[in-house]
Amino acid sequence: MLTQIETVGVIGAGQMGQGIAQVSADAGLNVVMSDVSADAARAGLDRIGEATERAVEGGKMDAARRDGLLGRIEVTGALADLGHCDLVIEAASENEAVKTAIFSELCPQLKPEAVLATNTSSISITRLAAATDRPERFMGIHFMNPVPRMKLVELVRGIATADATFELARGYVDRLGKTATVSEDFPAFIVNRILLPMINEAIYTLYEGVGTVEAIDTAMKLGANHPMGPLELADFIGLDTCLAIMQVLHDGLADSKYRPCPLLVKYVEAGWLGRKTGRGFYDYRGETPVPTR
Ligand code: NAD
Repeated sequence: MLTQIETVGVIGAGQMGQGIAQVSADAGLNVVMSDVSADAARAGLDRIGEATERAVEGGKMDAARRDGLLGRIEVTGALADLGHCDLVIEAASENEAVKTAIFSELCPQLKPEAVLATNTSSISITRLAAATDRPERFMGIHFMNPVPRMKLVELVRGIATADATFELARGYVDRLGKTATVSEDFPAFIVNRILLPMINEAIYTLYEGVGTVEAIDTAMKLGANHPMGPLELADFIGLDTCLAIMQVLHDGLADSKYRPCPLLVKYVEAGWLGRKTGRGFYDYRGETPVPTR
């Protein structure tokens, strides 16, 4: 069994994969980040370059630290290039079929002692583990968005996760300087079990005409002291991810209180997925975000 992690593989170079790659490299680990193609992975690395450049300009990071961390991140379009990694964290889209397809291609490439983790926001760790060749060396390591800024990581064991796997993951989170909480393996774990129904309710509030986008976000920022309004936050998370989490809660807990709001479904059908596509509850294509309702 591994006791130390030197190289981390990250699958998915989207907003979460970029953040996980950045903080891992910043902690001195070597990182291999993959996506559906080498170009997609390189685009993710470019975004890390932009984010760390802003940190340097803002005086939050010096240039040598930025150069060091960027130098520790390799990118690839081939899962075979993750074969030497000690820990691989899957951070591809929140879709069970996508994740299990990745695991079946990846597992034969991994060394036997490698630990495999998923950054899923909501999907059963036990069920994902069962789709791999190593349920005892599989678990949930759930980062928060934006990864470099958020202090929490939820650790989630599947039914078969070995203690040594859990301790390795805890050591990794400590090395990143983040705080771990432990959640049992139930739909959406702790943070999203509480957060997503609130966001879904905010969308119902909009759908039923109780308030405009601006009124709802202002109400929760000034009335509940939330740093972001729920609709702004939904756009930040990604509306496809929000919908996927609500579907997992609805299916997994079989309670109508988790019914995804039809308006959320409609935005996703339109491809208005929030910040990452330039439009969601706000339109981000101009200088300042403009509400779309
Ligand atoms: P995203 O849409 O920004 O990125 C997903 C990436 O996965 C894309 O770059 C896509 O090209 C890539 N991808 C899709 N299929 C792939 C495949 N077969 N092989 C390799 N890469 C593939 O999504 P995200 O917000 O980064 O979310 C990723 C994961 O992290 C999801 O499981 C999500 O639930 C979870 N998560 C998201 C948040 C959040 O706030 N967005 C927070 C915590 C966890």
